[in-house]
Amino acid sequence: MMEPVRASITTELCSGCRICNNLCPYNAIEFRADEEVSEVITALCQGCGACVAACPSAAITGAHFTTDQVMSQIEGILWDVLEADGREPEPELVPA
Ligand code: SF4
Ligand code: SF4
Repeated sequence: MMEPVRASITTELCSGCRICNNLCPYNAIEFRADEEVSEVITALCQGCGACVAACPSAAITGAHFTTDQVMSQIEGILWDVLEADGREPEPELVPA
């Protein structure tokens, strides 16, 4: 069963950099050239969170997840990978 999570873009924060446009594996983000901002096509969004983590303007949020939550998930995955590899994270990468 799919999670009812969808991303949305706060257009006031969107710089129009288009980083998210080609990042979405479901082609759920389109660029509105008239306003030079990106927009999520809700019907196509699968809520994977990739765009939330990638947006340099923090303009994208999920209906049920925040940028901080997505970044924490990515951080946790990276720590698991390092641990499985028998390595310690670099001190400067460890969150305060
Ligand atoms: S990555 Fe963020 S700032 Fe860039 S186009 Fe997408 S929503 Fe806008
Ligand atoms: S959350 Fe995933 S599926 Fe939805 S728009 Fe962002 S990258 Fe695409």
